[in-house]
Amino acid sequence: MRHYLTFTLLLCLASLQGCGQKANQSENQSQTQGQNDELIYHYPLGNTEVVLLSDGQNTGDPSVLVGASEEIVKEFVPTGKAGSAFNIFLLKLNGKRIIVDSGMGNHLVENLAKEGISPEQVDIILLTHMHGDHIGGLMKDGQRVFPNAQLYISEKEVGYWTDKAIQNSLPEGQQRGFTGAQAVVEAYQDHLHLFTPNEVEQMTELIPGVKSIASYGHTPGHTCYLVENGGQRFFIWGDLINFPTVQVPHPEIPTRHDIDPVQASVTRAHILKWLDQQGLTVGGMHVPYPGMGKLITTQRGLELELLK
Ligand SMILES: [Zn+2]
Repeated sequence: MRHYLTFTLLLCLASLQGCGQKANQSENQSQTQGQNDELIYHYPLGNTEVVLLSDGQNTGDPSVLVGASEEIVKEFVPTGKAGSAFNIFLLKLNGKRIIVDSGMGNHLVENLAKEGISPEQVDIILLTHMHGDHIGGLMKDGQRVFPNAQLYISEKEVGYWTDKAIQNSLPEGQQRGFTGAQAVVEAYQDHLHLFTPNEVEQMTELIPGVKSIASYGHTPGHTCYLVENGGQRFFIWGDLINFPTVQVPHPEIPTRHDIDPVQASVTRAHILKWLDQQGLTVGGMHVPYPGMGKLITTQRGLELELLK
């Protein structure tokens, strides 16, 4: 396999809050910094590859899980901490350079440069959702970072984050996420493509080589993506799962980052079952390095085995 580490460095184990951003709240979490985070991983797919661009590794704290029993936490998180990360995926399909999400804005531009891509050369950005740790790399100093990119977001997602009535109904501290999302919509408005994804069983092609999948709950318009090339498929689950070590075997357990925890849990269970049936390799935005793995069935149930 042509898998390789661009940087074989130790993961930074700085203690951090769980992955993702609090539901309905602005970004208020620590983030890892430094070269230990600049991790890139290449996964061959048909005639192309999926490239993980890490925006930082961190550790997930099980306190982010809502309603997980002590037994479950002890069984799946015996050390009290689990691996987590902020991930972006780079795709090169049909001559287009595509990124899926943009992380926190830590290392995206420098990691793209290591792949020989300037911000001007990014053609398409696909967003899973508009939490701050996914749109943070799209803006710098109030300007868009990717001047030529077409930005794809589900219509439901944009509808939520631009809804002033919802924003104003929330405490001030929870309104900042809306302001950040609105700034992105404004900055990219002439390059914005809104769409409505279908359920996983009826998914349709959004752009050549990529299908979109409705996966609402974590946020109202959360979208997963299926990448296809040369007869091979790769599924990007975004934040369908924030805490893989617990939520893959127990999709019924939400995290406090889920805006609608009930809907998120139903969606998680539904799509996980489909993924297991399909036997797909999956990537997630908070899956620790290399950000991707395979679903396997163990004595404990379904689990995510990270690629080596
Ligand atoms: Zn997230």
